[in-house]
Amino acid sequence: MQTFSYVKAASIDKALAGVGSGKFIAGGTTLVDLMKLNVEQPSALVDINTLPLDKVEKLPTGGLRIGALVRNSDLAWNDDVKTSYAVLSQALLSGASPQLRNMATTGGNLLQRTRCAYFREPGAGTPGGYGCNKRTPGTGCAALEGFNRSHAVLGTSDHCIATHPSDMCVAMAALEAVIHVEGPKGKRAIPFADFHKLPGETPHIENALEPGELVTYVELPKPIEGSRSVYLKLRDRASYEFALASAAVVVKMDGGHIRYVRVAMGGVGTKPWRSHEAEAALTGKPAHAATFRAASEAALAGAKTRTDNAFKVELAKRCLTRALKLATS
Ligand code: SF4
Repeated sequence: MQTFSYVKAASIDKALAGVGSGKFIAGGTTLVDLMKLNVEQPSALVDINTLPLDKVEKLPTGGLRIGALVRNSDLAWNDDVKTSYAVLSQALLSGASPQLRNMATTGGNLLQRTRCAYFREPGAGTPGGYGCNKRTPGTGCAALEGFNRSHAVLGTSDHCIATHPSDMCVAMAALEAVIHVEGPKGKRAIPFADFHKLPGETPHIENALEPGELVTYVELPKPIEGSRSVYLKLRDRASYEFALASAAVVVKMDGGHIRYVRVAMGGVGTKPWRSHEAEAALTGKPAHAATFRAASEAALAGAKTRTDNAFKVELAKRCLTRALKLATS
């Protein structure tokens, strides 16, 4: 670990003014790990834990405003989240461990970095280390021909196939959240679908944040009246494990037909994966097994597999099929 300066921010303005080329730190459940591995080497840390961003508030629009510092546990057990955004509560409770959820924040969860083992090797991207374009652009990708069982099958490129690790983000993609940020150029709102970036030729650029910008809160739109939602996560063990495949589904029925649906998938994409293809295959259709399977086929139609991760395609199809059955039954 490299040496760094540390300061507690007394206000949002002071945090923005003080961060420079450093990093904001809140729960630290990802950042400190990555600093120990030399993946992150900030020259300065600005502690934002005392900023007034720790509330979950109902909005006049009927939506919900979630402060960036709201802990994952508090958000999962919030009454409004449990009743009106069940998919988000379920996703949060399926992630990490109780201790980590008590520390991890909403803002930090948005910025989780991949669990690709090569990326987390202390020497990756340096001479003599594994090639990793996400660590050091132009050094290659050891996972392409290496151990890639947990890697993505959707949204990959020849430069990076790393899976996005967050459960919370998959639920927020299905809920069409909006991320609010504040930075040197002022405030702006970023639709969830535009926040995380595909790797393309620049896998080191993971999100739409500009230098010095701070996530301040996440806004959830008003819940769809009469809808139900489900998060289903499949993994190697029952707890404290990342998804091999997951599905977040929000559905509103009209008689036996699907009137409104939003679908997002985790464990298979290089970003939280909203599936417009699955939604198109479901909308207006009768809610039965053949419809669900057709939607799952559509969702994974663009999958590109590697040596060890082809099993994820069928696993993800079954995961989405099951989630749709649960949400509509
Ligand atoms: Fe690095 Fe991405 Fe390749 Fe993993 S998959 S080694 S993060 S470039």
